Amino acid sequence: MALYADLHRHLGGALHPRIIYKFLRRTDHPILNYFPDYDGFYNWFTRPCRTLEEFVKIHSLVEELQSLEHLPYFCLRLCRGAYTFENLQYLELRYNPYFRTDHKLTPAKRLAQMHLIVEVITMNLRPADYPIIVKQILCFDRRLPLKINEAILKVAQDNLGPVVGVDLAGPEINTEKTEEWIKLMARARASGLKTTCHLGETGIDNVDPRYFATLDRIGHGIHIPLQKPSMLKELSKRQITLEVCPTSYKQTGVLKDFSELKTVFNRCREAGVAIAVCTDNPGRNPSPCTLPGEYERLIDNDVIDFRQLKEIQGEAFRSAFGFAGTSRFL
Ligand SMILES: [Zn+2]
Repeated sequence: MALYADLHRHLGGALHPRIIYKFLRRTDHPILNYFPDYDGFYNWFTRPCRTLEEFVKIHSLVEELQSLEHLPYFCLRLCRGAYTFENLQYLELRYNPYFRTDHKLTPAKRLAQMHLIVEVITMNLRPADYPIIVKQILCFDRRLPLKINEAILKVAQDNLGPVVGVDLAGPEINTEKTEEWIKLMARARASGLKTTCHLGETGIDNVDPRYFATLDRIGHGIHIPLQKPSMLKELSKRQITLEVCPTSYKQTGVLKDFSELKTVFNRCREAGVAIAVCTDNPGRNPSPCTLPGEYERLIDNDVIDFRQLKEIQGEAFRSAFGFAGTSRFL
């Protein structure tokens, strides 16, 4: 029986490395020159990185593989795995549609192709044999010019329903553009989309409180309770949920030990800020990385107890952008 909800998972990091490797073989991809066997590929693909930037580089490789013609292959497999091995009832999958367009096209044609990307993904996230509910979040990117991010907003607005929200992703750079991104979030919200934003993942510097008025959730945000707990009051008042992805912080070099998350969970609980535990890029983590696995690691490292776990599992459904069904946790 499907049970859980995951609110933060990237399409580029959702797939098991074996699926990616089989795909590379099928298409005779040149990267196989470096990785003649699966073990070598696996170790490279799932190795911990020193920085978020380094982590994002491998992500870009997968994004390019997920082109229009190959998206059905990846979508089916990720639904199948999430339903079968993780007991997911509900999943919010996020991706940047622009990065999946054909790089050989002109910029204008790439923007136009984004509609098709979303359409194909929507059609292929409902496999009859694996009845998981999957909703989409479209990602803006900090590396992209405003014009492209605005075009992504338009695609999200045009596909409201299957697309339930927008996110700001990419390396934590270009903070001088903060106002531009906050305005995009506000426009998204005004058109009925929900909003989340990668903030406070590697440090506190990009957490500008002006974001809070436009956000429903924050992707990560762990450096708010760690470094600026005074901001938690505002998050609680606005009922902004943090999406916390434990294994990610070890993979991107942000935390050394799971026990460091104790402060995050304790301070949020005291301040009345909800946390949803999520997986981020489970395919990039050493196997098996699943949502139930993340729950177990938090218990195992004494970050939370079983009673708190139940609350957190319920929180994922309460904070979901597009869940309208019933869950045993609500
Ligand atoms: Zn993320």
